[in-house]
Amino acid sequence: SDYINVIGAGLAGCEAAWQIAKRGIKVRLFEMKPKSYTPAHHMETFAELVCSNSLRSDQLENAVGLLKEELRMFDSLIMRCADLTRVPAGGALAVDREGFSKKVTEYIQGCESIKVINEEVCRIPEDAITIIATGPLTSDCLCSEIQSVTGHEHMYFFDAAAPIVTYESIDMSKAYKAARYGRGSEDYINCPMNREEYNLFWNELIEAGEAEVKGFEKDMVFEGCMPVESMAKRGQDTLRFGPLKPVGLINPATGREDYAVVQLRQDNSAGSLYNIVGFQTHLKWPEQKRVFSMIPGLGNADFVRYGVMHKNTYINSPKLLDASYSVRDREGLYFAGQITGVEGYIESASSGFVAGINAAMMFLGKPPVIFDTTTATGALSSYISDPSIKKFQPMNINFGLMQGLKIRIRDKREKNSQIARRALDVIRTVRDSLSE
Ligand code: FAD
Repeated sequence: SDYINVIGAGLAGCEAAWQIAKRGIKVRLFEMKPKSYTPAHHMETFAELVCSNSLRSDQLENAVGLLKEELRMFDSLIMRCADLTRVPAGGALAVDREGFSKKVTEYIQGCESIKVINEEVCRIPEDAITIIATGPLTSDCLCSEIQSVTGHEHMYFFDAAAPIVTYESIDMSKAYKAARYGRGSEDYINCPMNREEYNLFWNELIEAGEAEVKGFEKDMVFEGCMPVESMAKRGQDTLRFGPLKPVGLINPATGREDYAVVQLRQDNSAGSLYNIVGFQTHLKWPEQKRVFSMIPGLGNADFVRYGVMHKNTYINSPKLLDASYSVRDREGLYFAGQITGVEGYIESASSGFVAGINAAMMFLGKPPVIFDTTTATGALSSYISDPSIKKFQPMNINFGLMQGLKIRIRDKREKNSQIARRALDVIRTVRDSLSE
């Protein structure tokens, strides 16, 4: 056929359609609105921001700021419309919610190569190269269809994740490496608490502010993964007999077991990120920072991802996708957006950009464009396609996913700024090589 299908006109789908059209290829963009809406979408227009109107930091020293700049260098539609509709928000890029969505819609509708089809798609089309970008609230009939491609065990409907911190921000003079009963010697980082520290922590945890529950989340069942604050509310010692049990953990500083121990588990193959075991939570993000920073060793922890519990449809990308967001054993089928396990508006746009470019490359019979982990774009695509990841959790972009510098720089801002400059050089080279 002489076109590419894109399903879903959200952040990822619109970016993908735009990138394909820019390369002179026709697109059929399917969107079920306004005939049918997910529980979070309300506007008729495309690329709807379902919650905050902030696209987060616009500073290069922040990973999501870098991701934005990388997108801008490839004439991203999402970034173009965000810059056109921005509202004052300090170092962040916030937009006029309606204005932004309208602008994206205008560009898409004004693009001759893109044909919009207002239909709910329930079957994955086989007539052409296809990108599925139907988001965290993909409609039910398409979910079942996707499961037939991924297998039931590789599709998730609920995101219950514990916070993740960077290894370098953990104070190892307070924490120690060990596994329970000496098994696997150094697999966990352990943050020991004495009775007083534990009781103080418990008191703050049970009083901490919980995030607002949206209508459609109310009947979610938290099977087997109770929020840490709910478990704490069952009694003062419940956590000490649950995820914080000290049994089998000998503190090398004292040669004894502690009163309670918070464990952190390695989260990526590079060992730069650790998650707090058993700490899936529904607390507000600033509250997570305040209360979890009381854990010995986490006083200055850098939270690259906060704990969340909400409805979220996503596939087990590390098993299914390669770094071009293409399904490994089904040529011509791509996924993009939050459904691939990237987390956030700009991350979704980024994956739409990479999937879009690659679908276009495939259409043109050219080799795929793979970004490496010196770039934020590549760090994200590499994270979602890393087969060594066992328990896949959706993730925001962060510097912990990117290749470090060869030299050690103490000042964090300076370090991040050098990583950003290196990334933009790489992006420029890739862009120029593609336009040759
Ligand atoms: P979407 O933007 O959701 O786009 C998917 C599109 O596909 C929709 O237009 C939908 O109508 C359409 N669609 C679905 N099924 C079908 C079908 N079968 N056929 C045709 N069309 C279909 N991220 C942030 O950075 N900040 C936030 O504040 C934030 N808040 C969020 C709040 C909620 C409640 C949720 C669920 C997610 C939130 N996210 C947030 C995460 C994520 O960044 C956004 O959901 C983002 O919009 C994802 O982009 P996307 O393109 O993957 O999907």
